[in-house]
Amino acid sequence: MKILVVNAGSSSLKYQLLDMTNEEVIAKGNCDRIGIGGHIVAKTGDGRKFEADCDFPTHTEAFEKLVEVLTSGETKVIDSMSEISAVGHRIVQGADIFDHSCLVTDEIIDQIDDLAELAPVHNHPHALALRACKKVIPEGTPQVVVFDTAFHQTMPPKAFMFGMPYECYEKFHVRKYGFHGTSHRFVASELARAMGKDVKDLKIVSCHLGNGSSITAIDGGKSVDTSMGFTPLDGVIMGTRSGAVDPSAVTFVAKKLGLSPSEMSDYLNKKSGFLGLTGSSDNRDVQSAANEGDEKALLADDMLNYEIQKYIGSYAAVMNGLDAVLFTGGIGENSWEVREGVCTGMDYFGIKIDKELNRSTRGKLVKISTPDSKTEVWVVPTNEELLIARDTLAIVNEGK
Ligand code: ADP
Repeated sequence: MKILVVNAGSSSLKYQLLDMTNEEVIAKGNCDRIGIGGHIVAKTGDGRKFEADCDFPTHTEAFEKLVEVLTSGETKVIDSMSEISAVGHRIVQGADIFDHSCLVTDEIIDQIDDLAELAPVHNHPHALALRACKKVIPEGTPQVVVFDTAFHQTMPPKAFMFGMPYECYEKFHVRKYGFHGTSHRFVASELARAMGKDVKDLKIVSCHLGNGSSITAIDGGKSVDTSMGFTPLDGVIMGTRSGAVDPSAVTFVAKKLGLSPSEMSDYLNKKSGFLGLTGSSDNRDVQSAANEGDEKALLADDMLNYEIQKYIGSYAAVMNGLDAVLFTGGIGENSWEVREGVCTGMDYFGIKIDKELNRSTRGKLVKISTPDSKTEVWVVPTNEELLIARDTLAIVNEGK
């Protein structure tokens, strides 16, 4: 059974085609510059590659090209789209309407579009891609939507409500939603499997650290709290995002700089974080500048480690225990420096890592804590596309 996984942005359409008999990637690529030109990079699992400028006025033309590169030319991997059993789509914002993945109907596409106010950069493009996909794939091919927010719908109100007037929640749906749910769900189950335990018996703090970062408390397999909030801006310091700041600092700076609400939002989302502090959003640059003694880079590095430690401590407190901490995402999987920085001075929580093992671990599933560490510490590579494909397969099979 072959499943196509689609991750649509405002001007891009990333895809992966997976063979679910062995969960291997048959093809993957990205249609980019939609609406402002067009470019495609297509690769096959056996190493073939195609790249070209194209004309992508809308997501529909990008989808048509995607079909073309899968079914013909040098990157051909299937004879026709009828070989694809289903399409799974990543959706960023499902709000409190969607608490699990589901089959796509026209009504669901409209609901996803209606949520665009809560995720302007993402949800409308998702809806465009869903409609375009429907036009291009053979009639009757099921489509499934998998939401970044769904995993966090188990948070209790005391975790997701803000101390603002209740009407903000009632009228405007302002609350914590949390993001990266697909990743947190995937790595928590991978970790439980690696530990030889049922996820229902574990208290986990999952640290997804990438360009965007979020920390989640997972108790018994359920998200009970998470660091990202109403939008993916909250929580720890990120590549270009500030993370949590005192809201009064936001209104104060907006006034000082004469910025409108949307300009201030850009300032916090695109010009802050590592970029705003050090001049680079890339954690590798921050690490190498810190190694050379750059004070701002050292500060940014210290801030990230410190903020993650605070989340681990507070989540251990609210879960009343901690069996494992896991690191995932581009930074979590690759940066031994960040993992070491976070895990240093955490012996009160029973966290002790094997420094040598940690330093030699990169991008693979490895336990980096010492045998006598009360809390286990793991590096767990994430794979959101695989989880989307698994959900899609399960939902399609359910309907049979
Ligand atoms: P996204 O949130 O866009 O999916 P990723 O999960 O790919 O991002 O993470 C990107 C981040 O991972 C960047 O800050 C990059 O510097 C960092 N990263 C990748 N490899 C390494 C490495 N070897 N050491 C430190 N950071 C790394």
